[in-house]
Amino acid sequence: MLVVGGGITGAGVALDAASRGLRTALVERDDFASGTSSKSSKLVHGGLRYLQQREVRLVYEALYERQRALENAPHLVRILPFLVPLMTRGGVMDRRLERLFGTALWAYDLTGGLRIGKRHHRIDADTALAHMPTLARDRLAGGYVYYDSQVDDARLTLAIARTAVIEGAVVANHTAVRGLVKDGDRVVGARVIADGDEIEVRARVVVNAAGVWADDVRALDEGTHPASIRPAKGIHITLPWGKVRNDIAAIVPVPGDKRMVFVVPWGDTTYVGTTDTDYDGPLDDPPCTPADVDYLLAAINGITEEKLSADDVVGTWAGLRPLLRTGRSSRTADLSRKHSVRVAPSGVVTVTGGKLTTYRRMAADAVDAAAQVIGEHTGPSRTKHLRLFGGEGIAPPTAALEPSTHEHLTGRYGTEAEVVRSLTVDEPGLAAPLVSGLPYLRAEAIYAVRHEMARTLDDVLSRRTRARLLARDASADAAAAVAELLAPDLGWSETERDAEVDAYRAAIDAERAEIS
Ligand SMILES: Cc1cc2nc3c(=O)[nH]c(=O)nc-3n(C[C@H](O)[C@H](O)[C@H](O)COP(=O)(O)OP(=O)(O)OC[C@H]3O[C@@H](n4cnc5c(N)ncnc54)[C@H](O)[C@@H]3O)c2cc1C
Repeated sequence: MLVVGGGITGAGVALDAASRGLRTALVERDDFASGTSSKSSKLVHGGLRYLQQREVRLVYEALYERQRALENAPHLVRILPFLVPLMTRGGVMDRRLERLFGTALWAYDLTGGLRIGKRHHRIDADTALAHMPTLARDRLAGGYVYYDSQVDDARLTLAIARTAVIEGAVVANHTAVRGLVKDGDRVVGARVIADGDEIEVRARVVVNAAGVWADDVRALDEGTHPASIRPAKGIHITLPWGKVRNDIAAIVPVPGDKRMVFVVPWGDTTYVGTTDTDYDGPLDDPPCTPADVDYLLAAINGITEEKLSADDVVGTWAGLRPLLRTGRSSRTADLSRKHSVRVAPSGVVTVTGGKLTTYRRMAADAVDAAAQVIGEHTGPSRTKHLRLFGGEGIAPPTAALEPSTHEHLTGRYGTEAEVVRSLTVDEPGLAAPLVSGLPYLRAEAIYAVRHEMARTLDDVLSRRTRARLLARDASADAAAAVAELLAPDLGWSETERDAEVDAYRAAIDAERAEIS
């Protein structure tokens, strides 16, 4: 099987296929998770709002998958409480709204939320304020707390890809499919470009997991562009944690829109998102606009005492949801997050839609379809209890590391934290920070190029670490030093090293310019 696309869906398909015994290869044209899978809200969740849209089955499946993720990737996925602040209007508590949330949270718990082992509960204003002291005290009537979970999306994708390799798959990033190889009407492989060379990869079945680019890959097979996907843009902004001071996540309403956005603590920052708008621009690098940023600021400013402005924003990211185009042209926010698996007459299997949370199920469905195409009896998916790489028993803290560094490393690498730590033993300079103000160690960048297939400065600063999302300017300041650190391992000449730094800084400049 050849899988096209190294986002969470493609990585999931490679893992599912390899663990069923299929000889599997995956190619990703850029970096693993460089598409939508590094730009999500980073929640492994059922999605409270999908219940409002009566998508009970979807929420049930997602909450089931949330539990699988918590058990199979305990080092990466962590339970996160969410605060639903209840605000008064004109000094009066809106009892209807209170009941509405209470009912929705009961329904969420009963649809599978309870699997997490905790039940939602009502809290008073003081407790809500203790969780988020920046809330407007005079309008705060209390709140609810419920439970979901959070993950570093890019690292989850990478962990799935690495687990696929352990199960026997071959995976390659920076390797793009440029054409498909046909034998009569059947697709029997693909032409890929790797390091400037064209290679023909033969496969009995090709699975197209190219996310919002899936129609482009289908066009290589079908000759015409099917336009089956309706890309929906979502952006997030990062704020210094000290400006929000929330010790748990919160969901807050957007004034004048019937939507809520998440306010999620992440290290020394808090991110706010997301928007949900139709998008018809170029699919690579969708922009964050000043209007997108204002939309999110209006939401958080609607419930806080002190008002935040665009000057407080220290990072942004924008991604495109690969939603399925349906006949009805409603708002993208109202479109279903269901997934679809389609088999073309050529045998190409295309898997699209869905969510980060439901990747395992999407993968199982896609591999079932692929097995039928090649007439193999692979048996059912085996990933239900398959631990992801790094998640098999976490090492206890050692005296050699500060407890906070131990927690930082195990929360990102699981059992591999020891390998990262050992780099700092061989070379103590690698224990120094990678980017000023962020917890990443220089050893993590070395680990990224030696063990995680990072090939560019952006791979290291955007996805192996999340420095660009957490502190855009500091990451640009560190770019030259990080490139110098990576150059010997990646065999960069001085010119190549400088080109990496220039490209990274240019991308950051463009990001800054978009929102100013
Ligand atoms: C703003 C936002 C917030 C979200 N929040 C959440 C959330 O909190 N929880 C949740 O469960 N879901 C969330 N989602 C949804 C989730 O992120 C996506 O459903 C998921 O990441 C899609 O993954 P994918 O692998 O299908 O696509 P992608 O991650 O985009 O992967 C497709 C890959 O295919 C590669 N590719 C394209 N063409 C080729 C080619 N010719 N050759 C080789 N490779 C190719 C691309 O480079 C890309 O890496 C969110 C989405 C958005 C946009």
